[in-house]
Amino acid sequence: MKCSKGEDFGDGSLIPYGNIELPPSAGILNYGQGVLEGLKAYRTKDGSIVLFRPEENARRIKIGAERMCMPSPSVEQFVHAIKKTVIANKRWVPPFGQGSLYIRPLLLGTGSVLGLSPSPEYMLLIYTTPVKSYHKGPLNLVIKDELYRAISGPGGTGGIKSITNYSPAYKALNEAREEGFFDILYLDAATGKFIEEVTGCNIFVVKGNSITTPEAVGTILPGITRKSIIDIAIDLGYQVEERGVPVEELLQADEVFCTGTAVVINPVFSVTYNKTKAKYKTGSGTISSKLYETLTGIQTGLVQDIRGWTLQVD
Ligand code: PMP
Repeated sequence: MKCSKGEDFGDGSLIPYGNIELPPSAGILNYGQGVLEGLKAYRTKDGSIVLFRPEENARRIKIGAERMCMPSPSVEQFVHAIKKTVIANKRWVPPFGQGSLYIRPLLLGTGSVLGLSPSPEYMLLIYTTPVKSYHKGPLNLVIKDELYRAISGPGGTGGIKSITNYSPAYKALNEAREEGFFDILYLDAATGKFIEEVTGCNIFVVKGNSITTPEAVGTILPGITRKSIIDIAIDLGYQVEERGVPVEELLQADEVFCTGTAVVINPVFSVTYNKTKAKYKTGSGTISSKLYETLTGIQTGLVQDIRGWTLQVD
């Protein structure tokens, strides 16, 4: 789907996967004017194909586009384009229980700009790829207290899925991996006392019957899995709080887990705080497995979808 400044995105068209042409002076290539999304299509037990909460991705890309001074398709246009793309790629949706079709929408400034100003042309590009279950097994994380993400500072882009948010993390991530950690858990940029999120997923801390997650106030991405898990946990009778979570609280937790479209829910096995060398070591994983079973059950039709989160496409 393409659109020039002030115009509508229209219907778009299906083209085979392949290279796209852009002018060297395109806004996305020079200044990173672009936002991305990620969602999945699942095959249910009866063989139909469903999307999980695609209108949430549509709303989030709209908010991101506004922050990056870009036009965006309407929620209806976005969801329609996703459905059309999935139907065209339905042979790639894995059988029930064997993975999903990952869908990657990109909203890009494709027009030519040499000076610092928004691109005059835009494109919403959607491509898909089948993925296996991404459940990695328990993660080990590190908190590097000296490391704050610029994106999560005041006025930053931590609250949106800007394309520019990710590659600045590679250096620290490579270092953490060389030290034997799988990923980094970032602290808030303002005080360095509260946990925020992992490079590509949200974080939850469990103590007794209570589940806590950092508040989404513009510095972390308001994950769609995060939002869904909060509702599911409340339904299952847990007490859920969204608020600042001090590092010390995480270190004392019974259970810690991450959420995201790719990982769904991933238990955290250990968290090492590099400042004090204090370490959280895993609890049981009981609550995260219960939440995982319920969420994946809804996504694949095994658990009743009482909130209408799934959208049948075929
Ligand atoms: N935080 C960040 C930085 C992410 O990139 C993602 C993945 N989109 C998430 C959290 C989880 O969001 P969601 O559940 O919508 O995939």
